[in-house]
Amino acid sequence: MVPLTKIGPGGDFDPLRIEPGQRVFVLTGAGISAESGVPTFRDAGGLWEQHRVEDVATPEGFARDPVLVWRFYSERRKKAGTVKPNPAHLALAQLQERLGERLFVCTQNVDALHERAGSRVWHMHGELLKSRCAECDREPFHDEAQYPDALPRCHCGGLLRPNVVWFGEIPFGMDRIFEALSACDLFVTVGSSGAVYPAAGFVSHLRNVPNVEGRWARCVYVGLEKPENAHSFDECRLGRAGELLPTLFAP
Ligand code: NAD
Repeated sequence: MVPLTKIGPGGDFDPLRIEPGQRVFVLTGAGISAESGVPTFRDAGGLWEQHRVEDVATPEGFARDPVLVWRFYSERRKKAGTVKPNPAHLALAQLQERLGERLFVCTQNVDALHERAGSRVWHMHGELLKSRCAECDREPFHDEAQYPDALPRCHCGGLLRPNVVWFGEIPFGMDRIFEALSACDLFVTVGSSGAVYPAAGFVSHLRNVPNVEGRWARCVYVGLEKPENAHSFDECRLGRAGELLPTLFAP
C-alpha cells in the first residue's frame, strides 16, 4: 500500500474528523519535542551527546559503567529543566480536554513536556525525571537530582537507576497500550522515525486486526519526513509538528 502523502502546512489538509463516541490513539516520538529544543535520536546520528547508545542506553552499559550512565542522564535532567512545551504538545492537551477518556496519548519520549502542557500521558519508555532501584521492588519515584560523580543508592543499598526503558528492555504497560489500540478508530503517530520497536509496529498491528467493534482504524502519520514504516499508514502529512498539530483535528 502506498500512503497518500501531503506536504504542509498547506491548505489541502482536511482536518481529521472524530465522530461522537470514537476513540483516538496518539503515539508521539522524539520529533514532537524537537521544536522545544530537545534533540531527536535521529539528529544525534546514533551518537547521543558524544556517547554510543550501547554505552549509555542499555542495561549492559549501566552494568559496565554506571558513573558514565548517570553523568549522561544528569546532563539530560539539567537540560530538561530549561525546555517548554511547544504548540504540538498544547494542541494534544486541548484535544484531551475535549475528548477526555476517548483520547489515549502514548509517548516514547522520556521528557515531561506532555505533562507540562497539561496532558495525561502513557510513558512507554519511562520518565527521565524518575528513578528506581536496580535491585529492590521499591516504586519508581520523582527525582530531578543530578548525580555527575557519586552513584546514588537506595535505602536497601542497591544502585539507583533512571526510570527509563533502555534498548533491550521491555516497554512499560504493553497490555494497557494494546487495550487502547484495540479500541481506537483513529491512530495518529507524531514525529517518530518508525525504527524503534515495538512502537513502530503498532500501526501494522492495526492494519491486521480490526478494533473491538470490528472497524478498521484510520492511520495517519505527522512528521518532517516519511517514517520507515510509512507503508502501513493511510496517510502521511509532512511538516513540523508544531505547525500541523494545532489544526490537525476538526473542531
Ligand atoms: P527518532 O529520533 O528516531 O525520530 C524522530 C522523528 O521525528 C524523525 O522521523 C524526524 O523526521 C521527526 N522530526 C524531527 N523534527 C520534527 C518536527 N519538528 N516535527 C515533526 N517531526 C519531526 O525518534 P523516535 O522514533 O521517537 O525513537 C527514538 C527513541 O529515542 C525513542 O525510544 C525515544 O524514547 C528516545 N528519545 C526520546 C527523546 C525525548 O524524550 N524527547 C529524545 C530523543 C530520543
